[in-house]
Amino acid sequence: MATPKDAAAVILLRTNTDPIDPEVYWVKRSEKLAFLGGFYAFPGGQMDPSDSEVPVDNSPDRETAAAISCAARELFEELGILATRGGEALTVGQRTSLLDDLESARMSWPQLLRHYDLHLDAHDFTFAGRWVTPPFSARRFDTWFFLVACPPTQEPRVITGELESGEWTVARKAHERWQRSEILAVPPTLHALKTLADGHSPDLVDRFLSIPHAHREPVRRIEFRPNYICFPVRTPTKPPATHTNSYLIYNSDELLIIDPGSPYEEEQTALAECVDELLNEGRSVREIVLTHMHPDHVGGVDALRAHLGERTKVAAHSMTAEQLSNTIRVDRLIEDEEIIELRGSPPIVLRAMHTPGHARGHLCFHEERTGTLISGDNIVGLGSVLIDPPEGNMHDYLRSLERMRALPNLSVLFGGHGPAMANPYARIDEYISHRLEREQNILEAVREGATTPKEIVARVYLDLSPKAYGMAERAVLAHLEKLAADRLISCNNELWSASRDHG
Ligand SMILES: [Zn+2]
Repeated sequence: MATPKDAAAVILLRTNTDPIDPEVYWVKRSEKLAFLGGFYAFPGGQMDPSDSEVPVDNSPDRETAAAISCAARELFEELGILATRGGEALTVGQRTSLLDDLESARMSWPQLLRHYDLHLDAHDFTFAGRWVTPPFSARRFDTWFFLVACPPTQEPRVITGELESGEWTVARKAHERWQRSEILAVPPTLHALKTLADGHSPDLVDRFLSIPHAHREPVRRIEFRPNYICFPVRTPTKPPATHTNSYLIYNSDELLIIDPGSPYEEEQTALAECVDELLNEGRSVREIVLTHMHPDHVGGVDALRAHLGERTKVAAHSMTAEQLSNTIRVDRLIEDEEIIELRGSPPIVLRAMHTPGHARGHLCFHEERTGTLISGDNIVGLGSVLIDPPEGNMHDYLRSLERMRALPNLSVLFGGHGPAMANPYARIDEYISHRLEREQNILEAVREGATTPKEIVARVYLDLSPKAYGMAERAVLAHLEKLAADRLISCNNELWSASRDHG
């Protein structure tokens, strides 16, 4: 599991903002970013070693000082706001030239502050919690959050290409946009918006710090989108992933559970506790649904059924049911295009999509109203998808990706591993073009005389660690089978060669 890196973020409040309905500056992360692309967030980033060289007046300790220095630097680099003392007289032009000094590395952050006689003061940075990224992510941060009042003479603007846009927003309205499923944000951002929405009162900081997650306890029940809980459980899965996402989809009356995947007792208990919380609020379990038959997606089915009662139904595609017939009882079969509608409000109508490729019986679930797609292992938020023949089939996989791509108004992908993806089309396109590019390289290798997956891996997969050769050969085989189905190559006695009429 990755060790969290120190980071800091700034919750920038507008000058003279209405204390009853405060305004905050939020940014939208570029859709091109692999990590949390398309998410709404606050400016911030990872700590730089030189951040700790900056003296911070009135700081309680060195650790806090380094975090404040990092927060101030990120705020300057991303939004051009200089939250220092002594810089009040600087013009916009002067601040821009300072930023240029920093960006071009003519001066380091500590040098810059010293040179222009600027000071950081801890009184300008109100501590509002420390949040640790849940362990399902390969990139984990231990992020310090600070409330900062925007200096009266400065106006923020997005400078870095990592951000698509930024704007002042009434915190309450921003939170309402999340409630309407219009935007995606991570738990600390949502917590900040919700806390500010209740007003900038004297107990504001206490409210920020009132939950254990604001004191470095990772969130387990992640609600990227209302009514969809992502609950990562530790599983014996494929690195870099260490967890599989279980999803709990609920409304007023019912709860649907997707992929309770952990074979580990403590993880099964944690999931069962979360399920119980939702049931104790008056809901009933609709059923347990499986996206596909891989062990890291079904490892906790029996334990959860034992916990909920043997009458709890498990539903899956017929091919999944068949593959699991010796291990797990599947009570109900789900067909392509089948509708699963939860009783109660808000209306949740999921449409099943049979999307083979990674596994023959793979299902995705699409909710049209909110543009949500449970993408299972067809698209994941972390690591790559293995197409391993004969279970895996590259032809089917690309067709499934195209079918997912053709869905209108997608706003989020919930994958089997890693964080949610707020850039669905960019993500699907990336998957398709990556596979087609690899296919082209493999075809070229065959045309140049490579005859076995082993030889092809050596030519196509440069910088591959020897440990990964076996897996890469399986992936190459999937591509070879697709190229053969497309009649571009053929196979004789386990040796592959290019088809003459296409050579
Ligand atoms: Zn899988």
